Amino acid sequence: MGTTRETIGIIGAGQLARMLIEAATPLDLDIRLLAASPDDGAARIWPRTSIGSPDDPAAVTAFAADCDVITFDHELVPESVLIALEASGKRIAPSTNTLRVAQNKQRQRELFAQHRLPQPRHRIVRTVHGAEQAAEAIEYPVIVKAAYGGYDGRGVWRCTDEATLVEVVSGLAERSIPIVVEAEVRIERELAVMVARDHVGRTTVLPTVETVQIDGICRQITYRADCHVPEAVRIAEIVANVVDLTGVMAVELFESDGQLLINEIATRPHNSGHYSIEALASSQFEHHLRSVLGIAPGSIEPRAPFAVSVNVLGPDDGSDPRDRIGLLASGDVHIHMYGKGARSGRKLGHVTVLGDDLDLCIERAWAATELLTNEPRPEGM
Ligand code: ADP
Repeated sequence: MGTTRETIGIIGAGQLARMLIEAATPLDLDIRLLAASPDDGAARIWPRTSIGSPDDPAAVTAFAADCDVITFDHELVPESVLIALEASGKRIAPSTNTLRVAQNKQRQRELFAQHRLPQPRHRIVRTVHGAEQAAEAIEYPVIVKAAYGGYDGRGVWRCTDEATLVEVVSGLAERSIPIVVEAEVRIERELAVMVARDHVGRTTVLPTVETVQIDGICRQITYRADCHVPEAVRIAEIVANVVDLTGVMAVELFESDGQLLINEIATRPHNSGHYSIEALASSQFEHHLRSVLGIAPGSIEPRAPFAVSVNVLGPDDGSDPRDRIGLLASGDVHIHMYGKGARSGRKLGHVTVLGDDLDLCIERAWAATELLTNEPRPEGM
């Protein structure tokens, strides 16, 4: 077992690093941060920050030398950095092998197939011709995904016919990026489950939540304390084991015809787990830190029957929601702004509302978001 006095180095200084530091503070954990710029969200709140590119092997290994264990703000760590970290012999959580799976949708699909885990019908191809054949076999419409390099729906395309497919996959094939061609799932609900696991395999599954996305971007997360989805728990535990997870991981799931299918995983704290900051005794960030250190696991004791989180996206008019925080009586709305500059559509923060009436939580969370963004609640939400 590790100790709380070990130094954790976080590579990358976005909102996840910032919320990790917020969770580490009451435990007085020893955190160091590697930030590309002093203006990064986490660097703005943390004095023990080194400035250097998280994508530069030399900067990362120099930073890691002063740390006992290394973890990450995101999983898109370049291969050269993974190799350098492996060579340094440092403890890395999650491991470089875990990250190699997490950052590649082809490897995820292959691993899940190997372990007979439920997922959409798919084929992996590398050429335009291969994609055409795959789409015909699967039947249009198909969902095409770049194996790596995308996020928030960028790198995912719905193709209804061959012409669109050819247009989408040509660019990927030219750049030698493997292509995942998937059957379009009739999604009844999108669910997500966070799981924490330490290096000796002690595993804690957090509650299953429902997520709603618009144009591939997560907008709303709903937590119900009485929501028990045994199949989601079973899948989360198996995936945590097969990727040999250390830390927390999100498993994103589609519910379709009463069945759960794995969409993808992210081996880090995740947007769908932000509700846990207020709604559970230990947040996903605390679970991550505890798993990374290998100290006693966190608790999933609920703090309320319901919680709703809504993401605050940068308004189209370019205005900054932080300028409107003063308009919002704090009351029961928990505001989390990430310290990022406002840009249209960018995830700048989120709000969470707890309560014992789900509809009321949804109303309040959206009312707060409308006020902060000065934009109406999107249609269909
Ligand atoms: P990203 O990695 O950019 O978050 P995802 O793989 O999660 O992208 O896909 C983004 C969204 O596209 C999903 O949340 C879902 O709404 C939709 N989607 C992805 N795969 C499928 C599929 N096979 N069938 C139907 N919809 C899908």
